[in-house]
Amino acid sequence: MADYIMAQANGRTIPKEDKIFGISNRAKAMIAKEGRDKVVNATIGALLDDDGKLVVLSSVADVFKTLAPEDYAEYAPIGGIAEFKPAIRKAAFFDFEPKSFTEVVATPGGTGGIRDIIGNYSKPGDAVLTSDWYWANYKSIAGEIGRTLETYTLLNEEGTFNKEDFSAKLNEILAKQDSLVIIINTPAHNPTGYSMTLGDWDCIIDAVKEAGSDKKITLYVDVAYIDFAGDESEYRKFLPKLEGLPENILPVIGYSASKTFTLYGMRCGAMICMAPTAEIAAEFKQVCEFSARASWSNSPRAAQKVIAKIYEDEDLLAKVNAERAYYRDLLIKRGKAFEQAASDADLEIVPFDAGFFASVPCDNPDEVSKKLEAEGIFLVPLAKGLRVSVASVSEARCREIPAKIKAAMK
Ligand code: PLP
Repeated sequence: MADYIMAQANGRTIPKEDKIFGISNRAKAMIAKEGRDKVVNATIGALLDDDGKLVVLSSVADVFKTLAPEDYAEYAPIGGIAEFKPAIRKAAFFDFEPKSFTEVVATPGGTGGIRDIIGNYSKPGDAVLTSDWYWANYKSIAGEIGRTLETYTLLNEEGTFNKEDFSAKLNEILAKQDSLVIIINTPAHNPTGYSMTLGDWDCIIDAVKEAGSDKKITLYVDVAYIDFAGDESEYRKFLPKLEGLPENILPVIGYSASKTFTLYGMRCGAMICMAPTAEIAAEFKQVCEFSARASWSNSPRAAQKVIAKIYEDEDLLAKVNAERAYYRDLLIKRGKAFEQAASDADLEIVPFDAGFFASVPCDNPDEVSKKLEAEGIFLVPLAKGLRVSVASVSEARCREIPAKIKAAMK
């Protein structure tokens, strides 16, 4: 029985303090006491420069300064302002032109899309499927709206996609439910940095197709980190695989402007369906807009306007893309440095490809993380290991951390 005074627990166990913010606060307190050079805060889910300052794309910030008061003061339509939709669609698909029926619904960040998709494509009491390493908020969101989160084992003993377990869990759930929302966070998965290969995608599509035409499956591809993974076209090569699927399968892209445009606090994102029919696409727009209205109503207008302006001006777009590419390369170097240092220290990590985070499998993550905190290294202990944010520490720190984790694990 939860000890709430007036509030209802509604099946939730709500921690007194958010775990990641709690650790981050301890790191900040240690910095204040011992000095910046004594502390490594690898907990933050945002890209920081080598001095620990938030990276903000100046080309995006400059567009902000050109906004007229009505650009941010006025309500945006529930699904997003008209000029935002083609812009964010282009941002999400880049040079890929889908043949499927697409509709765009604006969301407050990628988070809003996750809530809206679960709310509309699963029933109360249903399970939602994702991998065993997952962004903790998936579970909170599912629980908030009366769903549960079930997981398949992402990787097998060889460190490759565990297609057998994906298929087994899918069929296990579908023996009890007639529909299922599957969340796949790729490329540059949080928390591991794993990216689904084209071969992995073939296995996913085969398993989903084999589930049978009487089952409704929503494949939600959370691409929150796609623009920091590597070459834009290369990392979108899986998209054609989401086309031409049977009518019982609905792929939806969950896109976030938080990382791509460094607009974390502006709460901007979009869901884009890749529907096999016009009717399914129209229904997607209808139900998702209805739920948006009934939860956050309209999403912030300012960020939508900024993104629209960027895509209306070719030179400006090229500038934003070039500036992001600079920071993406910095991030990639950090990730590679961490991976190399882990190998040198004989520290096992979850197969890493790219992104903000890498993970270290560990049996007693809380204990190891506590030991590391005493040495000034702040990481996030998860159920299956430790998450290291390579996005928030310098390349030099990325080289140092693995050996220290290895020592703390002994
Ligand atoms: N999906 C994943 C896996 C994330 O890690 C995040 C942010 O941390 C998001 C989606 C959405 O972020 P936001 O709502 O800030 O756009």
